[in-house]
Amino acid sequence: MSTSRSLPSTIIFDLDDCLWSPEMYTLNSKPTKPITGELGTKGSGVIGVSNGSDTVKLFPSALKVCQRIAEGEFPNVTFGLASSSEEPTYSKSCLSGLDILPGLKMNELFPIQAIGRTRGLTSRKTTHFASLKKQHPEMVFSDTLFFDDCNWGDHVGDLNTSLGVKGIRTPNGLTEEEFEMGLDLFK
Ligand SMILES: [Mg+2]
Repeated sequence: MSTSRSLPSTIIFDLDDCLWSPEMYTLNSKPTKPITGELGTKGSGVIGVSNGSDTVKLFPSALKVCQRIAEGEFPNVTFGLASSSEEPTYSKSCLSGLDILPGLKMNELFPIQAIGRTRGLTSRKTTHFASLKKQHPEMVFSDTLFFDDCNWGDHVGDLNTSLGVKGIRTPNGLTEEEFEMGLDLFK
């Protein structure tokens, strides 16, 4: 952990197929049932949220990245979420259910969130970034890093062209290598 590292001031993640799977639109009801297990090497907690037939879980490397955030590796960075989930109430149920560390909910890591495609949000993530900027006026798009699987559309390319946001595509769920590649864009 280097204190001289140059970092973006804001880092934003997509949820479905970037930090967790499966995608919310594939679920037939809201996941609410906590599934406990081992949080990698960090102890036990809620590792999944189930609706009885499907369980939403973080990708193992996305959990590791979230644990690095939770442990304070990036003290001056604001973390947020930009998801065009078709079922934002499902997303929020998972965010308030999943643990990152024992006793620390995923929701607590992300003070700014834009989730859904209603109330000013659309399938285009420029709308989510406008909402995030409203929540966090200090946000500077050119000093923001974004991760998205982009399996449905090129959100990373769109935000780069439209707003100057730098991003990394995570087509198989966020890996630690992709996270480092993103940080390297700000060296
Ligand atoms: Mg996605």
